[in-house]
Amino acid sequence: MPRLTISIDPAACCAMGRCAATAPEVFDQDPDTGTVVLLDATPPPELHAPARLCAELCPCEAITVTEG
Ligand code: SF4
Repeated sequence: MPRLTISIDPAACCAMGRCAATAPEVFDQDPDTGTVVLLDATPPPELHAPARLCAELCPCEAITVTEG
């Protein structure tokens, strides 16, 4: 089973919230700052596509997805 690992850089996050809206099982936003919170660094296979999409959509390049 392919493995996917997510890392985030909250310092780079500009609190747009796209990730939490696109994959709420994986990402949330800090209630005070709005910056990204990682809920699941190694999500199950059904969430790999949404996680990849979040990394592509993030306007601040604050999400990194590593596969393999
Ligand atoms: S999409 Fe990027 S900039 Fe927006 S909240 Fe998520 S990590 Fe932050």
